[in-house]
Amino acid sequence: MDVEISVQALPLLGVCNLCLNEGAVKSMLMGYNHNGNIEIYSEMLFKCFAIDLTQMEFTDTKRLICKLCINKLRDSVTFREQVETSLQTLQAVVNTNRMYIMIYIITHR
Ligand SMILES: [Zn+2]
Repeated sequence: MDVEISVQALPLLGVCNLCLNEGAVKSMLMGYNHNGNIEIYSEMLFKCFAIDLTQMEFTDTKRLICKLCINKLRDSVTFREQVETSLQTLQAVVNTNRMYIMIYIITHR
């Protein structure tokens, strides 16, 4: 007789380091797949807020994050990328305008 064993990952329970609520959490140090992208929450936290979890000594509390904070962090990353793209676009427009002004000045002497 064949026996099939299916293994499912149980949700990890603990205290979220970022809001201190207790419940289902994930490690901030591991990579998780989100829509085909690998997310590492500790790296996202560092990228957005320059908070380096590796510099903090949480010896007995693992670096955990809850789903609510994951969503906020993900929104923050998206917002940061939007801001960076917008500023780069504005800078490119300013540079282009400067170039046209220079060309105008040179050709209308
Ligand atoms: Zn949280």
